[in-house]
Amino acid sequence: MDYLLKNGHIYVNGEFFDGDILLQNGRISALGVDLSADNATVLDLQGKLVTPGLVDLHVHFRDPGQTAKETIATGSRAAARGGFTTVAAMPNVEPVPDNAARIKHMLDRNAQEAVVHVKQYSSITINRAAGDCVDFAAVKAAGAVAVSNDGNGIQSAKTMWEALLGCKAAGLPLAEHIEEDSLKYGGVMTAGKRAQELGLPGAPTVVETSQLGRDLALAKAAGAHYHACHISTADSIKMVRAAKADGVQVTAEATPHHLLLADSDIPDNQDTNFKMNPPLRSAADRDALVRALADGTIDIVATDHAPHTADEKAAGFCGAPNGITGSETCFAALYTDLVLTGKLPLTRLLDVLTSAPARIFELDCGHILPGGAADIAVFDLAHAETVCAADFASKGKNSPWVGRELRGNCYCTFVDGKLVYKQEEKA
Ligand SMILES: [Zn+2]
Repeated sequence: MDYLLKNGHIYVNGEFFDGDILLQNGRISALGVDLSADNATVLDLQGKLVTPGLVDLHVHFRDPGQTAKETIATGSRAAARGGFTTVAAMPNVEPVPDNAARIKHMLDRNAQEAVVHVKQYSSITINRAAGDCVDFAAVKAAGAVAVSNDGNGIQSAKTMWEALLGCKAAGLPLAEHIEEDSLKYGGVMTAGKRAQELGLPGAPTVVETSQLGRDLALAKAAGAHYHACHISTADSIKMVRAAKADGVQVTAEATPHHLLLADSDIPDNQDTNFKMNPPLRSAADRDALVRALADGTIDIVATDHAPHTADEKAAGFCGAPNGITGSETCFAALYTDLVLTGKLPLTRLLDVLTSAPARIFELDCGHILPGGAADIAVFDLAHAETVCAADFASKGKNSPWVGRELRGNCYCTFVDGKLVYKQEEKA
């Protein structure tokens, strides 16, 4: 089916254009004013924001292995409901995609079962365990977009060194979950005043910075592309900024929750929807992340969409697993709390969710181009809506934004010209 989207506020190459966009045969066939087309379904957008489909380089779909939490199908529908048309799935599933055959199998399943484009990470090491690295050239040839052991940091400097050399040779980015296990002291949140108030064990922020410093030194010597996942502290930002100035090929992501929440937001009832890894940091760290996103030190936003079952999240702050869902609230939460408050220009928010992630992983998406793939998201910036867990397409309902009123919900999403999500009309 072809679609003619009328009266959109369309984001094209860094600028806004008020007009129409025609989606035919899966491609963007025209941009203009007063367009018409025979046999196309017409949607009057009444000034809604039209963007390239959003790109999320960090999601957990739990499939195969933990499908009570999420599946490729439900995770991809959650992505579509958030305006994402391309995501990259982390390899902490069972069995771990750590060789060419498993990468191909995952890519086949992703193509069959997902409603959005799902790229695939390989793990860095065999079975994500301490020890041997995967065959980087083989997983790259099979279609892996990058490698990561996300969920755990690489503890051995030797393993990280060999992995960076292998990724450099294969032309793969290495996306690191930065966490030095020996410095955690059993912490379930960031050490400090709020941990003391709540009586919870805290871990120091050097868990992140000590390993990041090691990795940046190794990445410089190896000449490899090192992507720092979900950086969360002001000191990490300084280290990334200095490394970039020094010519290190480093890129960095931040999550919506680290940009918008601090440990002081963890409620007295110890709601486990505020438990994630890295944990929420200080308000000063949070504010530094926003400034670093604005000035380009942080390259992209990625959600770290991490669904868990309600039973698992009911196990208390010490017992519950880390992580929250992110796909369905990402844009509206950032729009509401960063753009409407004047902390971040809308154009920068759109770039870090579209063209920037596409560029750093060399993906063919993230732009609205005549003739290009019709991967499009439409957001309704005019209306506020309260986040309701029952509305989530994700199996995971673990979100700290449930109950919050947000502006900028996704109105509809197209992948290759196909309508894969449309907001239901509420009475
Ligand atoms: Zn992680």
